[in-house]
Amino acid sequence: MADDVQTAPKLREALRGIPAYRPGKIPDASAFKLSSNENPYPPLPGVLEKVQQSCENFNRYPDMGVSLLSAEIAERFGVPVEHVATGTGSVGVAQQLLQATSGPADEVIYAWRSFEAYPIITQISGATSIKVPLTADERHDLDAMADAVTERTRLIFVCNPNNPTGAAITKDELVRFLDRVPGDVLVVIDEAYKEFVRDPEVPDGVELYRDRPNVAVLRTFSKAYGLAGLRVGFAIAHEPVADALRATAVPFGVNSLAQVAAVESLRAEEALLERCEALVQERTRVLAALREQGWTVPSSEANFVWLRLGERTVDFAAKAEAAGVVVRPFAGEGARITIGEVEANDIFLRVAAEFAD
Ligand code: PMP
Repeated sequence: MADDVQTAPKLREALRGIPAYRPGKIPDASAFKLSSNENPYPPLPGVLEKVQQSCENFNRYPDMGVSLLSAEIAERFGVPVEHVATGTGSVGVAQQLLQATSGPADEVIYAWRSFEAYPIITQISGATSIKVPLTADERHDLDAMADAVTERTRLIFVCNPNNPTGAAITKDELVRFLDRVPGDVLVVIDEAYKEFVRDPEVPDGVELYRDRPNVAVLRTFSKAYGLAGLRVGFAIAHEPVADALRATAVPFGVNSLAQVAAVESLRAEEALLERCEALVQERTRVLAALREQGWTVPSSEANFVWLRLGERTVDFAAKAEAAGVVVRPFAGEGARITIGEVEANDIFLRVAAEFAD
């Protein structure tokens, strides 16, 4: 053995002090989980059945090219199949986009607060996060984000609607922003919650990407389609970006069950979108009740609402848990509460009433 042998493997400096991804707390069986923006509905019976049938082939690797699912997505969105790239959840695809574009000495811009994974996966890439604060009314400050672009900027995340505030960007705002961003910077429009958007002013990223080679749209099967546990998401982007995603994909990363379930979910989309509509109606009811209680809450276009509780956040989360709902606290800032079962939403509203001014 060499004398200079290390006592531990040398790990990349970039990983030092990486913020932890805190998954939504899993409650005990008696409580409702409103902490991870999941879909409260169980899988559709038809989807379950196909998944169960596919279990017979567990001894085989999945289709590495994810060809059937990619073809279904391409048809559904009216895009060439070469523009579709799948991954292990949209967070997996986002990480690949960073791998494909950004490294040490590069900068990645995103609004803050936004999706918790952005700082983590940016740091892993070695690039530097440039966090642009949300406006006072909890929205992306797109002018400030465009002003933050430098020669080092390689990627910008735009989360629309924004997690955790629920606020959405309009088409005019987004187009003006995209027109200001240099063509060699990749803009990732993260539309994890797109199916819950009802404001007609909010654009469909898939329409905006068509004549913009520097735009990638991220979508997921985890939210509206209710497949969070199976980990499948995708990007729609022009071929060089989509090819880069194929190049950086973990071989066989999207497993067979995920592929079957996602294909079946697209085919059963009508039933799934009806469920989304029921959740949107619950969102409307919850927001109205909160405002009635005296809360100032941003309009949400997603399947959650945001309460700016400041120093009372942790206390609120504890009271909510004691009452039977687990929410997502961001200490010192606020709590994000997923729209779930009617009974769960009612429990949340009762706790919110106790904290209303
Ligand atoms: N983007 C946003 C904005 C999210 O909130 C989430 C999930 N919380 C994701 C991406 C990742 O979802 P998934 O990896 O399950 O597709």
